[in-house]
Amino acid sequence: MGVSDDYDDKRDIAIQLLLQKKVLAICPIHTDEIIGGQSEVFDAYKIAAFAYKKGEYPQFEDQREFTDYLKEIYDEFADCECGICGSAF
Ligand SMILES: [Zn+2]
Repeated sequence: MGVSDDYDDKRDIAIQLLLQKKVLAICPIHTDEIIGGQSEVFDAYKIAAFAYKKGEYPQFEDQREFTDYLKEIYDEFADCECGICGSAF
């Protein structure tokens, strides 16, 4: 089991949660381009904390690690426009 696999898995979980909560979005035309969404990242932190406490995300060591991933992904994509068509919400 490699560290990088683990890292990718956790990034994936964080991306999915941010997309689900509309903190990030997918370009409606180019479906593999991630762009900024309409919700605040703090909403995602709250959801993550709640879900973590219920035991839904055992992949993360603690709640702090989960929010660190969310923040990292958010910082990476929040200001993104679609690189192909330039659309943003
Ligand atoms: Zn696009």
